[in-house]
Amino acid sequence: MNQFINATVFTGEEWLSNASVRIDNGRIQEISTAETSTESSDPTVIDLNGDYLLPGFVDLQLYGGSSQFLNDQPTPETVRHIYDSHVRNGTTTLLPTIHSTSLDIMQQSMAAVQVVRKENPLGVPGIHIEGPYFNPIKRGAHSMAYVRTPADGELETLFGTNADVIRILTLAPEILTPEQFNTIKRLKHANTLLSLGHSNATYQQATAAFNDGMPLATHLYNAMRGYESREPGVVGAVFDHPTVRASIIADSYHCNPTTIRIAYRLLGERLFLISDALFANPPRHTFELGQFIVHFEPDANGPGRYVNNEGNLAGSAITLIDCVRIAVEQAGIPLTNALRMASVIPAEIIGLGDHIGKIKAGYAANLVRTTNSLETKGVWASGEKIA
Ligand SMILES: [Zn+2]
Repeated sequence: MNQFINATVFTGEEWLSNASVRIDNGRIQEISTAETSTESSDPTVIDLNGDYLLPGFVDLQLYGGSSQFLNDQPTPETVRHIYDSHVRNGTTTLLPTIHSTSLDIMQQSMAAVQVVRKENPLGVPGIHIEGPYFNPIKRGAHSMAYVRTPADGELETLFGTNADVIRILTLAPEILTPEQFNTIKRLKHANTLLSLGHSNATYQQATAAFNDGMPLATHLYNAMRGYESREPGVVGAVFDHPTVRASIIADSYHCNPTTIRIAYRLLGERLFLISDALFANPPRHTFELGQFIVHFEPDANGPGRYVNNEGNLAGSAITLIDCVRIAVEQAGIPLTNALRMASVIPAEIIGLGDHIGKIKAGYAANLVRTTNSLETKGVWASGEKIA
């Protein structure tokens, strides 16, 4: 058992000052703002001296940890490494993500994530498969060698084993035949959410897909048809739709802060943060990514970025708490809302909103201690001290 005292708690809904939080058996037992008369010498009592205590962050798209990423080494060790790298900064739940690759690597990655999911079901609840069924015009940093339409029998093989581990599948609906799209909807597990991304769909095509079983859109603005006067595009379809939810990369580079703020004003709680991290905590200098060589470019005014030899951005170099800070400081999103976009909302999206994403009795004791400028000072995952 542990008890945190003198905390400034964000529950996921409201802020409580001078609060105490009691955890036991990996779960949150009680949150209280009553005066505590606990002996300060009690080793199970942790005095936070007014620091923030936040719900652990939930990142639905990231590719690697500090030194390995899933496409390269699709093993359970890599998945554990990715989790260990991000959890140190407070991301207590994440979906390891693979970018466009062969069917064989996709299946190996799914099997690897399935192993770790069984060990740590609330830490690594599944995989995000990003591609390969993309529009080549919007492939971004994905390798042309892998971007494709499904071959005969490919979808049956993909969903034949470990289909339940796929939490998100990003695809461009306009490159599929209606039969292929229906096959995906029929074969996928109920847990799997289809997300529209790397797509050149028109407003009409995107809206039709959102109304036909695609509840999400992947990294708003990036690698999708933009918003134009006579063709509102995918971006316009996201803005205009009543329910579709979109992720956004607030890393200082993928989106101008003003475009993030505009999206937030239009979408409100339909917008959520992802890190899109390639290698993070710390970033890696140079590496191969499919057919590309990618370099890390440091930046005195930001966290630095990855650029490939075609000049395209290739993932980010940060973890989700950095996106929260950038969303607040650069885009002007209120802290309460930015925190929800990195915890409550993504937890709800993947169907775990009753277990993670809030500081509430009965929830997993996934907690992040930070200063009031969001510098991480401590992390607990299922009650266990990580950092
Ligand atoms: Zn992408």
